[in-house]
Amino acid sequence: ARKFFVGGNWKCNGTTEEVKKIVTTLNEAEVPSEDVVEVVVSPPFVFLTFVKSLLRSDFHVAAQNCWVRKGGAFTGEISAEMLVNLSIPWVIIGHSERRALLNESNEFVGDKVAYALSQGLKVIACIGETLEERESGSTMAVVAAQTKAIAGKVTNWDNVVLAYEPVWVIGTGKVATPAQAQEVHCELRKWLHENVGGDIAASTRIIYGGSVNGANCKELAAQPDVDGFLVGGASLKPEFVDIIKAAT
Ligand code: 13P
Repeated sequence: ARKFFVGGNWKCNGTTEEVKKIVTTLNEAEVPSEDVVEVVVSPPFVFLTFVKSLLRSDFHVAAQNCWVRKGGAFTGEISAEMLVNLSIPWVIIGHSERRALLNESNEFVGDKVAYALSQGLKVIACIGETLEERESGSTMAVVAAQTKAIAGKVTNWDNVVLAYEPVWVIGTGKVATPAQAQEVHCELRKWLHENVGGDIAASTRIIYGGSVNGANCKELAAQPDVDGFLVGGASLKPEFVDIIKAAT
């Protein structure tokens, strides 16, 4: 069975005071045990060690990005080695905001995943189609190409969670219906089965992201191929606790 995974992507939000408040809420929450749900929160780089030092020990932290290769003369970047040095276990790679705003290509994302894994980080690898792509009927072709660029570089699937986040649903308040989410997740699992292997297809978590909230999480979580969530806006609010509870 695939352990339910709930990630909170705080994006570029928060002050020290706000971060403390969010962490306090999480620390006081009664949630299912770590055997049932894996919870990972992803603050901006500058708050990572602060959050890690305050956060309950059954929740973990993720960086929102890291550099594609070994560190060095890359002003403004953070290397995978630095994250490992700070005992940050997870990193989000290939988020659609970076693909769109910073021109991260499929190949670049694949290279980043490969390098992060090689350094011992666990990776939340993001994929997803735009509205235009969905309306033109190319959803599966797009997410398959994105997945292929990642899968070709993965050596250890135990350390990868695949996050399907339709771009048209992110931060828009629009939600893909549970059936729309399930359809793509099921196709992605088939893709993994055919291109990577049956065992890996069966064991890899495929999580859903895009306007997930306390009200819609239960029905989404009930879909057989939805193994958890990557939550943006709602992960900054107390309702993130309700989303964690959707694991059961
Ligand atoms: P929202 O939940 O705010 O739509 O963001 C989703 C997301 O991009 C998580 O990575």
